[in-house]
Amino acid sequence: MPEFKLLDHANAERALALLKKEYPDAKEILNFSNPLEMMVAIILAARSKDEVVNKCTAEIFKHYKTAKDYANAKPPEILKHVHGILFAGNKVSSIIKACQIIEERYKGKVPNNMEDLVELPGIGRKSANTILINAFGIAEGIPVDTHVNRVSLRLGLSKNAKPDDMEQDLMKLVDRKDWGRIAYVIKFHGRAVCQAPVPSCSKCVLNNICPRNGVASSK
Ligand code: SF4
Repeated sequence: MPEFKLLDHANAERALALLKKEYPDAKEILNFSNPLEMMVAIILAARSKDEVVNKCTAEIFKHYKTAKDYANAKPPEILKHVHGILFAGNKVSSIIKACQIIEERYKGKVPNNMEDLVELPGIGRKSANTILINAFGIAEGIPVDTHVNRVSLRLGLSKNAKPDDMEQDLMKLVDRKDWGRIAYVIKFHGRAVCQAPVPSCSKCVLNNICPRNGVASSK
């Protein structure tokens, strides 16, 4: 495990400002048109590529419109539309169970708060943050996915590899008004330049700030 150095506050703010400028259109990649679709997409997306999820949900959303539709479905019926997704069976079971709870407790509406969302099967804090930001316009925190985790460690925005701890570090660093956007800015950088396993440091706008500039890394 490589040793990661923290950036000082001024350089961390400078790095984030540069990234915001570099990715002005950074936003959620998963397709959705309502909170239920956002929830279904985010459950499928864990450890799977967003583009692959979008292909699956394009079919799923044609057939399932309400929480009741999912709650009454049998897993193989939904699985017919799911291809190239890791742990697809478990994820589809989570979607069905989550929708059964949404039907029973929330009159068919996806809850719009962290406390209730994280009680649903298949939804952790990162997914709940993503649903709140994108489907409800509420930023209670910052979703830390694998890209945000990797870039934040390399860049020295946090030394905590555990996503929930890293989120707390990022929340201290970033103005609350930017919580909804910053994860996407960092994620876009992780996809475009600071990739796994080896980052493209020579092309990086942060290479005169970043403590891991030029250090090939598996993290
Ligand atoms: S300099 Fe390299 S390691 Fe640092 S953020 Fe840029 S691409 Fe990532």
